[in-house]
Amino acid sequence: MARMMMRQVLVMFVAVMAHATYAANTVDSVQAQAMLNLLERCHLGGVPAQAIDQVMDLPGTRLIVGQQNVSRRVTAAQYREVLASTCRGEIAQVRPSEPGARAEKGVQGLTDDVAPSLIWGRDHIELLKEKLVAAEQNKGFGEVVPLALENLPEKIDLSPKLYVVMGGRAGAAASDEGIYFDLLADAWRSRASKASTTPHEMVEFFAHETHHVGYGRILDREREQLHLMGGEMQAWNFLTAVMMEGSATLLINGHGSWAELQKQQHIQVDLARLPQLLPAAGNILQTALAGEMRDPEYQTRVSEFFGEGYHATGAKLLYVIEEARGRDAVLRVMEDPRSLLVVYNQCAADRKEPFRFDPELAGRIRTMGESAPIE
Ligand SMILES: [Zn+2]
Repeated sequence: MARMMMRQVLVMFVAVMAHATYAANTVDSVQAQAMLNLLERCHLGGVPAQAIDQVMDLPGTRLIVGQQNVSRRVTAAQYREVLASTCRGEIAQVRPSEPGARAEKGVQGLTDDVAPSLIWGRDHIELLKEKLVAAEQNKGFGEVVPLALENLPEKIDLSPKLYVVMGGRAGAAASDEGIYFDLLADAWRSRASKASTTPHEMVEFFAHETHHVGYGRILDREREQLHLMGGEMQAWNFLTAVMMEGSATLLINGHGSWAELQKQQHIQVDLARLPQLLPAAGNILQTALAGEMRDPEYQTRVSEFFGEGYHATGAKLLYVIEEARGRDAVLRVMEDPRSLLVVYNQCAADRKEPFRFDPELAGRIRTMGESAPIE
């Protein structure tokens, strides 16, 4: 997700992380164990306040709440309230913590995703215990960093701390504080299909998030060399979110294959929305370049790309490029995301793809940030 904003939220932990290195072949499961204990006690009746406090104090829970503040707004107090209510089997009536789309989306995520999954988890303790044991025994964590690095345009020093957690909204997420895979969110989302995440897919989800950390650093460095102003910065933020999710999704989860990606349940609803998402992406970039949008308008527009909208859009655009020119061409666009629209349009013509970006927009995106700032 939008890693840069995550970093603002978690800025206080960055200094600690900068001095710590971790062998990325083990996983920290303390939070998942504590949440499981809490859910088990809830299942037996009662609301053990101490067990809730214990869960709230853990780094894994801070990651979960932090993830819900990347593009939404959720407070620790709201999350605690949700935990206490779900312990009783009820969905908390949480109010937005501030005006605007972010806080409303935050509440929506808590009541539509987090609370129902916790209530479900309270009644599926044995299944979750099995998932936790399987995750702890997963021998593939040593592959996480190599897999991320293979799919980046340059080598970056990566040593992420890996967590398995329970009780978040996203299935997996990255920040400077660490990377997590949510066993409960994953089990809850796949409860109807019986197709549960395999140990290797879990490694790929960790690699997807590790890729975000590395690619985020590459993109931050490029942005610092550009002179992006106002609406251009908004266009850059949107464009890089599409590139971030699209590249990790296509190259790591999809192994570069559209047919494989289409088989993956997590993204199917968003792939079906591509006929709306592709023109919407062009419109957001067009509107941003015409003049910076106010934050509420920007947030409302990009909310269409939540879920896996960014992932589906970016994966589609990059797949057309991969088909026409090969995987190296995808990595070159990753080096300078401003070339995405121009290169996509050329490849779409070769592949007879129906969707094209407005050529004038594609050209303006290609050169944005190149003029020197006015002294
Ligand atoms: Zn992602």
